[in-house]
Amino acid sequence: MGAGRFAPSPSGELHLGNLRTAILAWLFARSTGRSFLLRIEDLDRARAGSEEAQVRDLAALGLDWDGPIERQSGRLDVFAAAVEDLRTRGLLYECYCTRRDIAESPSAPHAAPGAYPGTCRELTEAERAARRAFRPAALRLRTGVGQYTVTDTLHGQYTGIVDDFVVVRNDGVPAYNLAVVVDDHLQGVDQVVRGDDLLSSAPRQAYLATLLGAAVPEYAHVPLVLNREGRRLAKRDGAVTLAALAEAGVGPEKVRAAIMASLGLPGGPPREALEAFDPARLPREPWILPPLTTDL
Ligand SMILES: [Zn+2]
Repeated sequence: MGAGRFAPSPSGELHLGNLRTAILAWLFARSTGRSFLLRIEDLDRARAGSEEAQVRDLAALGLDWDGPIERQSGRLDVFAAAVEDLRTRGLLYECYCTRRDIAESPSAPHAAPGAYPGTCRELTEAERAARRAFRPAALRLRTGVGQYTVTDTLHGQYTGIVDDFVVVRNDGVPAYNLAVVVDDHLQGVDQVVRGDDLLSSAPRQAYLATLLGAAVPEYAHVPLVLNREGRRLAKRDGAVTLAALAEAGVGPEKVRAAIMASLGLPGGPPREALEAFDPARLPREPWILPPLTTDL
């Protein structure tokens, strides 16, 4: 059997939305006999102490995982090998565009909104050399499919844009879409459960997986947690992390009970909810965060 995973960026503490997604990812994996992996996506914004706090919070909720915690920063050679594979097959090209270049570029007549317009796709070697002198290149994938369809446990068939997306940023760091696909493939992850803000990335990632000879994982993009104004949780929403809630007198068991109740599940440790867990019965709407600290 394969594996599921939770893959946070160590850019701060996990908030209730992240914690709820972690519990769901664990339930999806464990209820289907999969192993469950924890992967730290630290290629970008790693803040000192965040990983330790995140691991502590996940354990406090009663989650466990298999094998050592993987860090993407320790796997740069693996990403480089995948890039080399794509490059030798002629699937990459250099792009010198700034965000502004892309925003101001006239798009092709049938291009999807927000898609890369292909500005650097057909440059000559002389044009590349001239542009390289002014700006380091990012590497984009030569796709040419326009869109791709994935199957999601909660959303059904989902078709989204696949433009020539970036696989290596112009600072040399592997792009999120590349790192996720390579890691899921090499770690045997065949079930991806994450927030539905990432649903629109799934077609790009699934398409890249097929190019790399990897199986497309089973997807479940789960609803986010929103504040009472209907916006994504942020620091200004007050006590939305386990540490802040504990300081306000709400311990991890109580937080977990509130999360489990929002999923229609018993409020104890997640393993006690495995029997009752049924993806078909999960709420499809965002969870509007109730005031957890008012009934003290
Ligand atoms: Zn470009």
